Amino acid sequence: MSTTVLDRPAPPAAKPKPKPSFIPDLIYFEPKSLEYPKGRRIFDWAQQEGIPYRMTSSHNRITNLPGDTELEQYKMAKRTLVVGIRKTLKFDTSKPSAEYAIPIATGCMGHCHYCYLQTTLGAKPYIRIYVNTDDIMEAARGYIEERKPEITRFEAACTSDPVGLEPISGSLRELIEFMADQEFGRLRFVTKFHHVDSLLDARHNGHTRIRFSVNSKYVIRHFEPNTSRFEERIEAASKVAHAGYPIGFIIAPIIWHEGWEDGYGELIEQLAKSLPPEARQNLTFELIQHRFTKTAKNVIERRYPKTKLEMDIEKRKYKWGRWGQGKYVYPDEQADALRMYLSERIFDHFPESTIDYFT
Ligand code: SF4
Repeated sequence: MSTTVLDRPAPPAAKPKPKPSFIPDLIYFEPKSLEYPKGRRIFDWAQQEGIPYRMTSSHNRITNLPGDTELEQYKMAKRTLVVGIRKTLKFDTSKPSAEYAIPIATGCMGHCHYCYLQTTLGAKPYIRIYVNTDDIMEAARGYIEERKPEITRFEAACTSDPVGLEPISGSLRELIEFMADQEFGRLRFVTKFHHVDSLLDARHNGHTRIRFSVNSKYVIRHFEPNTSRFEERIEAASKVAHAGYPIGFIIAPIIWHEGWEDGYGELIEQLAKSLPPEARQNLTFELIQHRFTKTAKNVIERRYPKTKLEMDIEKRKYKWGRWGQGKYVYPDEQADALRMYLSERIFDHFPESTIDYFT
């Protein structure tokens, strides 16, 4: 009996190609950075890849990026890498996730519409990698000494997404192995990228927690261009869990959108389905509702003019900030509904996990 086209089973959907790691369009080097092995290695790599490069007297003063409009220059900045030396070795605090922010990179190639780097980096959205990791680790040792026997936690993703840059910098691997030897020091970082392979055989001693930032399909699709796909992040989470790292998930920003209950319910179910048993041990969740400042709203509307991100201050509650400018968060009723719904789903599927905070 012959079969018609309609009888035949549909071919399996093609698996999307893995997202390649970041290759900048342009690199700047501070001349002194080439005296460090990391700087030299990046320089040799840039030449091998044929990436155009320029020299700069300071990683803080990159001007005249190609582009005729502010928007074009912004897009170019997100594809520009600057290799320099970190001079400020005084670390910022990083509550509630850690005691200090450890600065190994600044800026990110992701295009998440809501990203707070839009405002914190001001007119310098280009990506900086610091080559003097030894000085940075020495400074961390000082902070650990000051607080011991209390544990001091360092967050490596406050000003960047260091996993996205790891194939170029190798800095996380250095920090992980440094922290493995610190009785009173811990490292943590969060990512939306899946480039973890070079970290899998690092000596971590359980002192580094790797967290993956996840969200509902709606949020990922509409607001997180140029980051790894959800499935890639989960696969990476399984890999690092298998390598013995403590892991966690940050659900941020939690956005009130049409169908949010289904969206976030599906997210937790998918996590439960895809995570292998070893990834469920000692699992943490951090929950952060969407917030914005007036300045951020202006910048986001300029840079992503078609964004569907809801930033209507009439629908929000104003929360006073410590440094003057406050933020707009969801009114208590909505925030409570988000917190309760997500906490219930999380404990249904991961009864042994911990929710570190909802903010
Ligand atoms: S991946 Fe993280 S740091 Fe990068 S743009 Fe998105 S939110 Fe910002």
